Amino acid sequence: MASEADLVEVLAEALSLDLERAKSLLSTRATRLMSYKGLKYIVLRREISGHPEGTAVVLTRGGYRVIEGYPPIRRVLLLGVAVPRHFLDDVVVEEKMDGYNVRVTMIDGELYAFTRGGYICPYTTYKVRRTYGKQLRSLFDKLGEDAIVAGEAVGLENPYARHYYPEAPGWDIFIIDIFRGGLEALPVADRRSLVEESGLRNVPQLGVYPKDDWHSILEVVEGLEEVGREGVVLKDPYYRVPPLKYTTAYTNTADIEAGMRYPFDEGRTFIFPRVLRQIFKAYEDGWDEERLRLEAERLGMALLAPALESLNRAARGEEVAEEFTLTFDSLDDLEDFISYSASMGIPLTVASVDYDGRTYRANIVKPKRTLEEYRRILRTGLSPLD
Ligand code: ATP
Ligand code: MG
Repeated sequence: MASEADLVEVLAEALSLDLERAKSLLSTRATRLMSYKGLKYIVLRREISGHPEGTAVVLTRGGYRVIEGYPPIRRVLLLGVAVPRHFLDDVVVEEKMDGYNVRVTMIDGELYAFTRGGYICPYTTYKVRRTYGKQLRSLFDKLGEDAIVAGEAVGLENPYARHYYPEAPGWDIFIIDIFRGGLEALPVADRRSLVEESGLRNVPQLGVYPKDDWHSILEVVEGLEEVGREGVVLKDPYYRVPPLKYTTAYTNTADIEAGMRYPFDEGRTFIFPRVLRQIFKAYEDGWDEERLRLEAERLGMALLAPALESLNRAARGEEVAEEFTLTFDSLDDLEDFISYSASMGIPLTVASVDYDGRTYRANIVKPKRTLEEYRRILRTGLSPLD
């Protein structure tokens, strides 16, 4: 059992802080002490002395491990300006898949999956072990336990980001980066062959272009546009400069549409950044009057239609909540996940569980603040905003 004094010492040493500062950080909301099946770890809820938000300091058998937060990726608004300025020579174009960020590592001989926020997610840890336990172990045999394998988990069976991919309908993970010794990323080509050899799935690579050939990158994005995929992440082959991200017009609007089902939850913060992306896309791509009208209609419908639909539901006295399905081998794993969510302040309810003799399918309901706000407005007729 780690005492409070031990925790202070570990945090101080792990982040090179003096003891006083470590002690005070442990008593504020800047950090959070967590535990997963006996494994204790401290989550950094904001950047602390060079370690990004989402970094976790884990108490291991031999001491501690710092699991660095996944670095934020700058967004491009104008490909033609940013790409030639930012990159050095070649640009690897990878698909940007729309799921949730996962960092997998090995601690005291076991695999753990961390969310972007730096928490060990019981559901993702269970899925990763079950789906790719063997493959990941063979990868960590080659890389060493302290490597971090980052991936985008996608599909419909997850609690965080549901987007349908025909190649990964339920739950799957596509590897996006491998880090060794902290934040040093393996070159793209090395990473891709290691992933392939290990039997894991690589995020799709859509081409490699000289940095001045940004028109080809735009063409790749147009191809994604037609099939309704999210966008691209542009990477230097050796990570000599950090990656950049760029999304399709389709996604900019589709995100608003998804967010506006719950205007008081995701909706309002979603809108401005995505409208800005669209403005610069219209400018750079030179949309004509017809395209502009088409996109404007899509955007207008995305803003109003889903919000109106959930308002109608609230007015009829129905639920306005997120519903999703998670699959488990045992009810213990389901329980672990539900109590983890509760500890994170997310009160999920299990509406029903189906069992087909092999797998439990749990139908989960996540409440939304929007319902309360809608109910209040329907009752008073008054706006909570100006
Ligand atoms: P950020 O903090 O980087 O701005 P965000 O939480 O706002 O991230 P996104 O806008 O989705 O998220 O963009 C970054 C995320 O994209 C990464 O954290 C990663 O999870 C995801 N991603 C999907 N595909 C890739 C890829 N090929 N390479 C890198 N990241 C990818
Ligand atoms: Mg994303």
